[in-house]
Amino acid sequence: MDDWEKNIVCAGKCEHCDSLLDPKQKRILSVYDHKVICMVCKKIEEQKSDYEDVSKAMIADCIKKTDRPYGNPGGFCFHHFCPYKC
Ligand SMILES: [Zn+2]
Repeated sequence: MDDWEKNIVCAGKCEHCDSLLDPKQKRILSVYDHKVICMVCKKIEEQKSDYEDVSKAMIADCIKKTDRPYGNPGGFCFHHFCPYKC
């Protein structure tokens, strides 16, 4: 497992609003800072005016870094757009 996976897969709380995350609760990664956030914070993020631009830049960047195709469920990029559980 890569380092980022160890750190995020079972994070106990949202890193943006500090609300507790149950292991069975869905969480997702922020496209802005790659932190684990709850679905409420994701909604807030999606409404930012630069969200689309930041998302595109993030995808390009992480495909380059991870060398895994976007949409691969094991890939870093995937967790920014598809909620996952612990
Ligand atoms: Zn949150």
